[in-house]
Amino acid sequence: MTTPAPVPTPNKQSPLHYLHDALEDLKAKHLYFHLRLLEGEQKPIGTFDGREVINLSSNNYLGLTTHPKLRRSAIDATRKFGVGSGAVRTIAGTMKMHMDLEAQIARFKNVEACVVFPSGFAANAGTVSAILGKEDLIVSDELNHASIIDGARLSKATIRVFKHKDLAVCERILQENADWPGKKLLITDGVFSMDGDIAPLPGLCDLAEKYNCIMMVDDAHASGVLGRNGRGSIDHLGCHGRVHIQVGTLSKAIGSLGGYVCGSHELIEFLYHRARPFLFSTSHPPSVVGTCQAAFELLDSDAGARLVKKLWSNTKFFKRGLKKLGFQTGKSETPITPVMVGEAAKAFEFSKQLFAEGVFASAIGYPTVPEGKARLRTIVTATHKRADLARALEIMGRVGKQLSVV
Ligand code: PMP
Repeated sequence: MTTPAPVPTPNKQSPLHYLHDALEDLKAKHLYFHLRLLEGEQKPIGTFDGREVINLSSNNYLGLTTHPKLRRSAIDATRKFGVGSGAVRTIAGTMKMHMDLEAQIARFKNVEACVVFPSGFAANAGTVSAILGKEDLIVSDELNHASIIDGARLSKATIRVFKHKDLAVCERILQENADWPGKKLLITDGVFSMDGDIAPLPGLCDLAEKYNCIMMVDDAHASGVLGRNGRGSIDHLGCHGRVHIQVGTLSKAIGSLGGYVCGSHELIEFLYHRARPFLFSTSHPPSVVGTCQAAFELLDSDAGARLVKKLWSNTKFFKRGLKKLGFQTGKSETPITPVMVGEAAKAFEFSKQLFAEGVFASAIGYPTVPEGKARLRTIVTATHKRADLARALEIMGRVGKQLSVV
């Protein structure tokens, strides 16, 4: 049998022709990108698109993507339990190791229970849409992650957005809706993914308690970064027992893939029954679960504390260097450090020239950040060497001057 030809690129008669126009529009606005190809491992120095560069673009905060203990644990799990779970959790895909990992995360986060999702995105979107309905109210920071926004839309609840980190505006919205007949959710990122600033959690918890809201925090960029041994923003800001729902990811500091939700036993049992990504996606393969078990074991040890400490000393070194060179780094308080540029076209040009000189710092433009606030987004990790960071700073300073960014 001959294989039929693949579906051709849309021509003018094709019902998909609008895709061509949309892509041309992105190109005209300098918002079009291609996927950079990593050859080899995700490390502080990596070969992308055939060029060796200092990598300031990963979320691999603690360098765990290539950690020998995690690698061994993934291989052991594969040897013992195979390469796949073969089913969704609610049918035949709950292995003992899934439950063990969840219990381990719950202990680490100081909560009753935990459930793992296919990704952090699925954890946020699946949880918000499961616990709320059209009669409910969501009060959300304007810079919350896309997965929170999508979960809110899926829930069909009324969405009110407050100015970034503005407790007064948040309270005004809660006051206006003090008699709201349905449930109320107050939701924030713990660390904001494009600006690297930290949510005002104690103030938000006060408001949640005052106005009887469910309090939910997405700690994707805080877990492994803030708090004791990277326990997250709730630990860092002393808010244990005040946040009903904590979301985290296994895809950034933990070095692998997945997301999780922490909270009460009843919350987790409810999510087993109602969270659609949990119900309708196959569970993680043993290799991923084994990796994550080893990652949390490491994080909760002296070695983990040392990695978090190294992450912060590298972060401080790099931020100081950027400031000394005259770059605007916004309100960042964490390893996510934006280098503000303004115009998207200039940010993309800056990123392109840096790459040619040996630094990979991705440009971020609309719609990921507001128009006119394009930037480079840099993240250092615990495994960057000082000499590499110093070299990255030297290159950024030189190229930044040439392009009048500084
Ligand atoms: N929340 C935030 C704040 C994030 O930055 C991300 C990742 N971009 C996610 C959730 C989603 O996590 P994951 O990559 O595990 O889907």
